[in-house]
Amino acid sequence: MQEIAEDFDVVVIGGGPGGSTASTLLAMQNRRVLLLERDKFPRYQIGESLLPATVHGICKMLGLSEELKKAGFVRKLGGTFRWGTNSEPWTFNFSTASTISALNAYAYQVERQKFDTLLLRNAARKGVDVREQHSVNCLLFDGDRVGGVEFVDTEGNTRQAQARFVIDASGHQSHVYKHVGERIYSNFFQNLALFGYYEGGDRFPPPRDGNIFSAAFKEGWFWYIPLSATLTSVGAVVSKQYADQLKAGHEEAMNHFIASCPEISRLLANARRVTEGVYGQLRVRRDWSYTNERFWKPGMVLVGDAACFIDPVFSSGVHLATYSALLAARSINSILTDDMDETRCFNEFEKRYRREFRNFYEFLTAFYDMHQNEDSYFWKARKILKTQASIQEAFVTLVAGGSSMRDEDLLVETGKIEQIKGELQQLENVDEDTAPYLSTEKEAFLDVLVEEATQIQTQASVGGKRGMEKPLFENGLIPSADGFRWREVESATAAGGA
Ligand SMILES: Cc1cc2nc3c(=O)[nH]c(=O)nc-3n(C[C@H](O)[C@H](O)[C@H](O)COP(=O)(O)OP(=O)(O)OC[C@H]3O[C@@H](n4cnc5c(N)ncnc54)[C@H](O)[C@@H]3O)c2cc1C
Repeated sequence: MQEIAEDFDVVVIGGGPGGSTASTLLAMQNRRVLLLERDKFPRYQIGESLLPATVHGICKMLGLSEELKKAGFVRKLGGTFRWGTNSEPWTFNFSTASTISALNAYAYQVERQKFDTLLLRNAARKGVDVREQHSVNCLLFDGDRVGGVEFVDTEGNTRQAQARFVIDASGHQSHVYKHVGERIYSNFFQNLALFGYYEGGDRFPPPRDGNIFSAAFKEGWFWYIPLSATLTSVGAVVSKQYADQLKAGHEEAMNHFIASCPEISRLLANARRVTEGVYGQLRVRRDWSYTNERFWKPGMVLVGDAACFIDPVFSSGVHLATYSALLAARSINSILTDDMDETRCFNEFEKRYRREFRNFYEFLTAFYDMHQNEDSYFWKARKILKTQASIQEAFVTLVAGGSSMRDEDLLVETGKIEQIKGELQQLENVDEDTAPYLSTEKEAFLDVLVEEATQIQTQASVGGKRGMEKPLFENGLIPSADGFRWREVESATAAGGA
């Protein structure tokens, strides 16, 4: 017998970083949130290299900074590449970007089963009704509007939960995203990944020992991520045209790819592949870069991999998942608390999310052209961010997830806000002919790197004390002072600040 449906403000499908973040930010605003997760945590997941925007922005907002520090994850100061025409490895450090304070110029390499569990347990502590081993079957509708979910509980009973909003954060395996729109796969990134874990792999000398290392070879590229002093995550990303290599067996294919890449062969010379436990198998992922044609419909939003996914060269997955979760939670809080218009809020969510995705997508398209040297990649980053910053700084800002984060307070602390304002002033005087990478609207350095107010870092650091922001889009919304909701520009002005 089917029970009477339970009732919530929001039901979140999936307890990965996207689902945990969205549900926590809603519960922190006193919303009644149910999170349904199919698996029992800790559970395995790929995606171990994080960006500073996640660690110092979102995680701080979630109240997780101290726990993260204590967890003992490897510190990542940047990335090292053997890529392009340069046969020597080259390194970028997050500290290069002036928008990232020296104190926050690092991220972590995480075992996802541990990291995701921290986030999920935190959601429960913050008041989210977290139910593991609960799998969502399908959506409930009220006309065209999504009004809840049907799910199977731990005992195998089919049950229903009604909600004002449903957030699909069930990742690339989502089967409900289709109600929002079709998934459009990229023609450009038609790759697959084969990955496993190794004990005893070599390390670069400090301070690069915690960096992600990405090495290009004939069939594709490798990631090499130090997860502890001895454990390394190693993955080969190859074009789909080399999929036949896998027919000989995963072990054989992996050994073949490693042998084809001198840098990875050298690093793994004295290592052994882990063959037991959660890291004991070689895994394959084939579904590659895609984006849904829409990110929301009445009563429902898609966050994280349920909405879009991009090739992992720059470790953007968890950043995009948690950033989109923040935007979604902000929108739903605004609709439920301030009675703001759903279309207006979700359009803002979608535009900001697409913009961040596009920044990475465009840059990666250029990065995959391995005939260039690193200066070209840096220049491309500058073009995408439309900045006048040094080319290295633009590159680092993009790959740190920094185009979505605001670090104004820390900039003020270090006196850099004046520097940025000066650069903006200079930009006003720039001759377009001599600055081919600047847009005619002169949306520039400050506009992209500072005035895009996801305010995740600022909120985390200064709370309601931060200043007014400009909308990112014409007639767009701005974040509230605490970062949990949207504001109309006029109402923020009348109130004397956002
Ligand atoms: C080869 C590869 C390498 C990558 N490397 C990186 C990297 O270095 N850094 C990085 O940041 N990202 C990386 N990523 C991307 C990263 O894995 C994802 O972007 C990230 O995990 C997305 O988080 P999410 O919360 O959207 O989804 P997920 O982490 O996939 O979480 C979704 C959750 O939903 C649950 N679920 C699914 N269906 C249901 C259902 N019906 N009912 C209830 N629950 C359900 C699942 O059990 C899961 O726990 C990589 C991806 C790939 C493929």
